[in-house]
Order: sequence, then C-alpha cells, then structure tokens
Amino acid sequence: MNSIDFAGIGMTSQRTRERLIKRLEEQGISNQAVLDVIKRTPRHLFLDEALAHRAYEDTALPIGFSQTLSQPYIVARMTEILLSAGPMRRVLEIGTGSGYQTTILAQLVDNVYSVERIEPLLKKAQQRFKAFGLNNVYASLSDGAFGCQQNAPYDGIISTAAPQSIPEHLLRQLAPNGTLVIPVGNGASQSLSVIKRMGASNEYDEEIVEKVKFVPLLSGVIH
Ligand code: SAH
Repeated sequence: MNSIDFAGIGMTSQRTRERLIKRLEEQGISNQAVLDVIKRTPRHLFLDEALAHRAYEDTALPIGFSQTLSQPYIVARMTEILLSAGPMRRVLEIGTGSGYQTTILAQLVDNVYSVERIEPLLKKAQQRFKAFGLNNVYASLSDGAFGCQQNAPYDGIISTAAPQSIPEHLLRQLAPNGTLVIPVGNGASQSLSVIKRMGASNEYDEEIVEKVKFVPLLSGVIH
C-alpha cells in the first residue's frame, strides 16, 4: 500500500472535491477508505490542462486516442467491490489509460499490475506514477485480453475496457477465491459483472451489478 503525499501538488478547491465525495456517498459509495483516497488524489493531474477544470465533475473525460478517464462514481464502485472481497495483495488492471484508477488502487492494495495497449497513453501514465512516487505499480504495454501471466495469480482483476465476452485468460489468472470486476457487452449495452473463483476450483460465480458504459476492449498494441 502506498501513502502518497499530495500536499503541494497544486490542490484545486477543497470545496469542489468535497462536493464530489458527497455526490459519491449519495450514489451509495460507503467504503470510507475509498472515499478518502478519491478525495486526496488530484484527478486534474490525469487530464490535459484544457480539461483540468472539469476534473471533479462526476463524469468521464477524454484523454486522447478516443479513450476516456472513467467517471469517479464507477472508479469508486469498482474499487469498493474489489475491496469487499478481502485484502488484496496483487491486483491486475486492464487498461491503464491515464493512470487514475491505477493510482487509486495503489493506495488501497499491496501491488498493482496494469496493462495498456496504447503506448503513448502508457508512457504518460508511467510519468505520473513516477512523479507521485508510487513504488507498488508495475505498468506495461500489452493486450490485456491475455491478462498478464508473468505476475499471476491475482487476488483481484479490474478491467476498465469492455470485452464482448469474458476473456478466458482472466479467469485462469485469478488466485483461489479471487475476484474479477469487468464490464461486458457491446457499445450500446454493457453490464458490470463480478466474477468470483470458487476456492481453487475451476468454478466461478457471476453476479451482474449494474448497467455501465465503457470503451471497448480492443486487440493488439499500438506504438
Ligand atoms: N483506467 C483508465 C481508464 C481508461 S479507458 C483511467 O483511469 O484513465 C480504458 C483503457 O483501456 C484505454 O486506455 C484503452 O486503450 C485500454 N484498452 C482497451 N483495450 C485494451 C486491451 N486489450 N489491453 C489493454 N488495454 C486496453
């Protein structure tokens, strides 16, 4: 777990942030650790300057290459679901994007492994991890449909891009009793699925949590 000292990294209005936290609470986010981490993490530093003033709105925002920084509500919800499964030593994130979700996770779990398919996005995110002094984040360029075998198994896997169906590789890389949180479906309608591996078996329990809208999980890497 990582405790970042964000003080002095250009804090935006404390009131704007408090309003966001209040909104998340109203929408049912109740894990205090998650709310605290969202409150102290400077979301504006994950956006281009032209959009930074919108960072504390509860909305998804563009980060280039037709990709988006997820809405704070969904980041909070997925993180809360993951943590409710128990202590997380190793978490895999599919879709590093801006690195915002990664940075939230890094403050709540022991180690975060994150994969991204678009190299320029990955590079920018890695610069942010370095600037924040995150020493428990391992981000790399690859197609996340294959998971990340070299660091498996994972207590938790979060996908921030939506496949049409659940990739087998992700199920195979879950530790016993591990949890996968993933949006599944096509652009028009996706469901947020929570899949739990039953002990060390090859049986999985699936629960659909709510309707969501994510960018699609695409194949191959872009340099
Ligand atoms: N977690 C990110 C969300 C970014 S949007 C954030 O907080 O900013 C989803 C990301 O998933 C995009 O950056 C997209 O390029 C990436 N992505 C899509 N398909 C992928 C794949 N097969 N493997 C790895 N990353 C993928």
